[in-house]
Amino acid sequence: MTSSHDNTLKQKSSDTKSENLLAKRFLGLEKNIWIEFSALAIAHKAVNVGQGFIDYAPPHYFIDLYKETLDDPNILLHQYTRGYGHRRLVDAISNVYSPYFNRKIDPLNEVLITGGAYPSLFNCIHAFVNPGDEVILIEPFFDCYEPMVRSAGGIPRCIALKPKPESTHADCSSSSDWILDKKELESLFNPRTRLILTNTPNNPVGKVFTQEELEHIACLCQKHDVICISDEVYEWIVYDENKKHIRMSTLPNMWERTLTIGSAGKTFSSTGLKLGWTIGPSNLVRGCQIVHQDCVYTCPTISQEVVARCFEYELKRLNSPECYFNYISKELLEKRDKLVQVLKECGMKPVIPDGGYFILADFSEFGDQFQSDADDMKDFKFVRHLTKEKQLATIPVTGFYTADDRHLAENYIRFCFAKKDETLDKAIEILRKLKAN
Ligand code: PMP
Ligand code: GLN
Repeated sequence: MTSSHDNTLKQKSSDTKSENLLAKRFLGLEKNIWIEFSALAIAHKAVNVGQGFIDYAPPHYFIDLYKETLDDPNILLHQYTRGYGHRRLVDAISNVYSPYFNRKIDPLNEVLITGGAYPSLFNCIHAFVNPGDEVILIEPFFDCYEPMVRSAGGIPRCIALKPKPESTHADCSSSSDWILDKKELESLFNPRTRLILTNTPNNPVGKVFTQEELEHIACLCQKHDVICISDEVYEWIVYDENKKHIRMSTLPNMWERTLTIGSAGKTFSSTGLKLGWTIGPSNLVRGCQIVHQDCVYTCPTISQEVVARCFEYELKRLNSPECYFNYISKELLEKRDKLVQVLKECGMKPVIPDGGYFILADFSEFGDQFQSDADDMKDFKFVRHLTKEKQLATIPVTGFYTADDRHLAENYIRFCFAKKDETLDKAIEILRKLKAN
């Protein structure tokens, strides 16, 4: 029998071996916050308010349509389907999204179905970035953007959203206090700039970018002939009537240079589906198809058929309050406010999100014994401590920054509030005790 110590050693030596063999373009990209912190949460049986997934049932029709699809006598639903997207799904996506994009979306040439928003991002980045090209990222960004750019040989050029100084003194602030500096953004664009990645509503801050901010980005893209990859996976999750989600692609002259990314996992609250899509002009989607066709070729037929049926179901009631796309934010709003209240009470200053299902919390008052050093950042240490010692799993926010800018976020951790009340209540109980200590 081998001891766990032996196993650890074996693991270490095989890691070193694989890192020796690893293609150079992946060196430096070995760490991943989801791999580390999801495993840690499970190992310590922690209440998981870290990773972004809903731990209650998806919309009621979802499971019914899954069963209906499995019972369908069409045996071809168990075989490969069209490589760039199952016909019924690309049609459904075109029917649902055309009105939101103010144009008729061509289902065959302007939509690509992928295995989630992750591969959509990968296809977009790898299709258009040559070694040495610059890609503008807005920090904090969904963490995979940087490794995807680097593995394509691109150079990330970053601009960090800055919280208004006065907002950081209050017991809570808003995601809209995180500002994009126009002049600084302008200074990043140059002849080597190939892409900019935008994400609204944003993960992890929850910022819903304003029309003015998006127009500024759009103007710079046009001036410098840059493509915009617009990650809109949280498109339906916005909490303020006055801060509606705006699609980059609908701004003047932006359809031609924008690839919009969506996720069935987010849209139907079933992250295990792992299906996503890219919508854009045929010449850009073509690039993504080329990356996709020799990598994945086609996504699972049954899941695509289910998502098609779900979209068809919603299409009939798009403008009604019952439509899940309209309902989901109402359901999440109560959860957001409940967690915000407790975070305030216990002195972890929350950044109240306008969209998405994450809350950043400033834990300055709790983290004195943890300091950033060469091995790790303060937020990583604090998250490990909370997970191991308090059985509360959250996510460190410096994971959403490049190394140079990490210091900006060392006092923040991220909570996900898309959880059933029972989970939130358990998390709240732990947080209240933290205060008492
Ligand atoms: N983009 C953002 C902003 C995300 O938060 C996520 C995580 N769901 C993804 C992309 C990846 O989504 P998917 O699970 O569909 O690959
Ligand atoms: N997008 C989700 C989040 O931000 C999960 C990503 C993942 O688990 N890889 O939490």
